[in-house]
Amino acid sequence: MEDKEKHRIRNKEWYKKTRSNSEAWNKRKKQQRIRYARMKSNPSFKRRKRIWNAKSYAKRKAIVKLEVLTHYSKERSPVCKCCGEKNIEFLGIDHVKGKGSKHRKELGLTGGINFYRWLKRKHYPEGYRVLCYNCNLSRGFFGYCPHKRSG
Ligand SMILES: [Zn+2]
Ligand SMILES: [Zn+2]
Repeated sequence: MEDKEKHRIRNKEWYKKTRSNSEAWNKRKKQQRIRYARMKSNPSFKRRKRIWNAKSYAKRKAIVKLEVLTHYSKERSPVCKCCGEKNIEFLGIDHVKGKGSKHRKELGLTGGINFYRWLKRKHYPEGYRVLCYNCNLSRGFFGYCPHKRSG
């Protein structure tokens, strides 16, 4: 216990001394940088970090996507305006006038979480709707969706 206390005081003093000595402080900083760089170049650290990032990105995206799609569906849960698809994995936001990708590029929002965040931040501007990827792509390729042509 006494040892611990001594150690703590010594540490504190060392810290104070080092802090006031810029050369020693810089040296310490440099060591920290080197240690971090070494850790970063470690493949297992990289892999873990990537997995962690991807996981948390997917989670954050799922939350904001659900919120935005629910809003634009004007239902209790997201649904494709054209065919009624309800699986959120298939759903996305479509620009009603068909300028979605151009508009997004202008804003520097190339899909993903930032586009959903942007919509939310803008308090859900008019002119967007929820479509599934089938309906969205059909409209993009053919100018119509087979769902609508037959019915
Ligand atoms: Zn659909
Ligand atoms: Zn459709």
